[in-house]
Amino acid sequence: MLRRVLLPGLAALLLGSPLAHAQAPARGEVAVYSARHYDSDRRLYEAFTRETGIRVRLIEGDADQLIERIRTEGQNSPADVFITVDAARLARAKDAGITQPHGSAAVESRVPAGLRDPQGHWFAISQRARVVMYDKQRGLPEGLTRYEDLADPRFRGQICVRAANHPYNVSMAASLLAADGAEATEAWARGVAQNLARPPQGGDRDQFRAIPPGQCRLAISNTYYLAAFGASDAPADRELFQRIGVIFPNQGAGDRGAHVNVSGAALVRTSPNRDNAARFLDYLTTREAQEVLALGNMEYPVVDDVPLHPALAAMGRFRAEAINGDRLAANAAEALRIMQRAGWR
Ligand code: FE
Repeated sequence: MLRRVLLPGLAALLLGSPLAHAQAPARGEVAVYSARHYDSDRRLYEAFTRETGIRVRLIEGDADQLIERIRTEGQNSPADVFITVDAARLARAKDAGITQPHGSAAVESRVPAGLRDPQGHWFAISQRARVVMYDKQRGLPEGLTRYEDLADPRFRGQICVRAANHPYNVSMAASLLAADGAEATEAWARGVAQNLARPPQGGDRDQFRAIPPGQCRLAISNTYYLAAFGASDAPADRELFQRIGVIFPNQGAGDRGAHVNVSGAALVRTSPNRDNAARFLDYLTTREAQEVLALGNMEYPVVDDVPLHPALAAMGRFRAEAINGDRLAANAAEALRIMQRAGWR
């Protein structure tokens, strides 16, 4: 049972049964400030309540808006847990001083070190790979095995990608900046901008959807969007899924691996329900919780004992780049400037 309470500019939901009044005492609750808006997450919170009796008060909003809100609420913030997509944003929350180390044996044993903040301020709860998609009918594009290859003039007029300023692209370029340096990244961004099939528009789905009509031969997108088509009940969706091929970039020996976009959770520094928050955070790493995220939202789990959704498994296995949230956050502004200067709007 859900109850929506409108706050200025934000939506708040109290999940779980019995339904408590919005002003109920904080005991027995955990307040989750989340920038993820997926049905899978709601199911996850309800499962947590069923298992523990702890109700989840959900405040949804944009990541930066939530960080600012927790910051200005200060010592009086009701926030216990902060959840968002994008490692750079998680690092920004840590930088803003609104998080604290969770320091949990469960998280440390379940979540690989490469998917956790080194100081313990956040850990990944799920991940998607940012990949290159292609038209199987036209065949595997030759000479395209790395993100760097997207700038090759042989792909002139073939690439569809969303606007530069979306965090998915900013973090991808920030990862290139870390790997290749500013000069090479600018040359890369210029090459990609010159290879665009059309001015950036729409979201990730719109990029690979434009492949069958021939608008683009290549699309840059996160895996979970395409997997959702594979899991769809609509035959047309599954047909699209069958037609699109996936290249996991940078898989060669010694190469850094495919860029992944993680979602993560952090313990808020001023958490008023510390014990419930800790229990909630540990719960996110359980098999049960990871299955809801993996199967419900077609994401890669962060633990190794949960199966992939078949649509995701069909795309094949890959090696992921190690996540350095601090580095991605530090590089974000420059990465965006580089892309825009290069003509990638
Ligand atoms: Fe998304």
